[in-house]
Amino acid sequence: MTWDNVLNNIQFYTGSGQISSYVISELSSDQRTSILGYLHELYHGSARAKQVIDQVVSSQNVVLGLADPADVAWFDRPSHTVAFNLSSIDKLYYVNKNGVLVKEKPQISVIHEFIHLLGTSYVDPSEESSYLNASFSDHQGSVLPVQNIISEQMGYSVNHQASYHAAVSEFDPRYSILSARSDYTEGNEIDIARIGDFGGQQLNDDLDHSSRAVSG
Ligand SMILES: [Zn+2]
Repeated sequence: MTWDNVLNNIQFYTGSGQISSYVISELSSDQRTSILGYLHELYHGSARAKQVIDQVVSSQNVVLGLADPADVAWFDRPSHTVAFNLSSIDKLYYVNKNGVLVKEKPQISVIHEFIHLLGTSYVDPSEESSYLNASFSDHQGSVLPVQNIISEQMGYSVNHQASYHAAVSEFDPRYSILSARSDYTEGNEIDIARIGDFGGQQLNDDLDHSSRAVSG
């Protein structure tokens, strides 16, 4: 597929309304230009991203919309819609595979939602503590591994995200605590990063990885 073919298969949401449980409205022309620019960079900068974009747009036209600030970014598979709030994405940080708090790149947020549109098997991990504490829990889900390949191919290896639930917004009160120190593992590579909640002794919010197997 060529980039022009891709563009022919992208539409923009007009008006305002709701899709599934999400509020959606239309992107400004500047926002449209930015998102198409990110997709163009991804398309030419990463073979894996090109595969994702080709596959997604060839199955059904993709609709791009504006997400509510609180929702940041989301997808709806039946309507093939992805929505972004670039201002909120600009406030997003996460712990990378070397334990460093890094700022999100909008290109990565864009391709993350496109990966979800590949199919029902592309899901993020549950946020339930009982799941995340379990020995079998998968802290990446099935989208993040693809996202991380794309980050590496784009030359954004510093943005290799450790775990799905390792993200925090600048608006979040936890951000000021986390950002006070930028490196949490002295550069050592980690498999899992989780950011706990505020709220004191909540039994349903314990971070407990003791059930995970230890080798070596
Ligand atoms: Zn996701």
